[in-house]
Amino acid sequence: MRKKLIAGNWKMNNDVEESLKLIKSLLTSELNEDVDVLICPAFTSLYPVIHELKNSSIKVGAQNMHFEDKGAFTGEVSPSMLKSLGVEYVIIGHSERRQHFGETDKIINKKIKACLKHGLKPILCVGESLEQREAGIEKETVRAQLIKDLDGVTDGLKIVVAYEPIWAIGTGKTATSHQANEMSSYIRAVLADIFTVDIADNILIQYGGSVKASNAKEIMEQSHIDGALVGGASLIADEFIKIINY
Ligand code: PEP
Repeated sequence: MRKKLIAGNWKMNNDVEESLKLIKSLLTSELNEDVDVLICPAFTSLYPVIHELKNSSIKVGAQNMHFEDKGAFTGEVSPSMLKSLGVEYVIIGHSERRQHFGETDKIINKKIKACLKHGLKPILCVGESLEQREAGIEKETVRAQLIKDLDGVTDGLKIVVAYEPIWAIGTGKTATSHQANEMSSYIRAVLADIFTVDIADNILIQYGGSVKASNAKEIMEQSHIDGALVGGASLIADEFIKIINY
């Protein structure tokens, strides 16, 4: 039985004060117990957020990390640093990192392996651009990403996959629940090829792309969708709480 995971990707938003205010709103609200809730703040808010959530079931993740343990990588943060803070998940290969920071599938593959080596759970983001969907190559695009990003990965049960069509991220355009479920089902079939059917059946596949309170229920009810990766709407306490309580 796959328990749904609803994650808030705050991106480069919220200073410490704003982060704690948002966390307090979550802590003082009734949240759907059938869902695991995950918050992914900026690096600077990780420690205070983890501290604030220490007696709560809300989980904390990072939005990125380097694949090396330590060394001369100015400005980077290592998996062991995140682990020592109490971080549980790390978003890996978000389309904004692929697009703006030149992250290739090779780098993403190293990051996934480094996460698993340090007992962190990677949320691997995959998804096609609008041009790729219009050209009818969305499935082969996502398949190629999964195969390259998971090359040599053996611990399939520790990963989460987020299907995030790039054309739906931060645009207000959402994939229809049918499109999202169809791709999630396809992703599960690819995961069965990479791992085994049993493992693929137990991997969480989230949908991400303009999820909001008004469309969360329909998306979450799809048979192959096991939660959501929420950007913009996770910054608004009431909206995010409604998504969790869909
Ligand atoms: C994201 O950043 O992963 C995302 C899905 O953003 P948004 O919900 O704003 O589209």
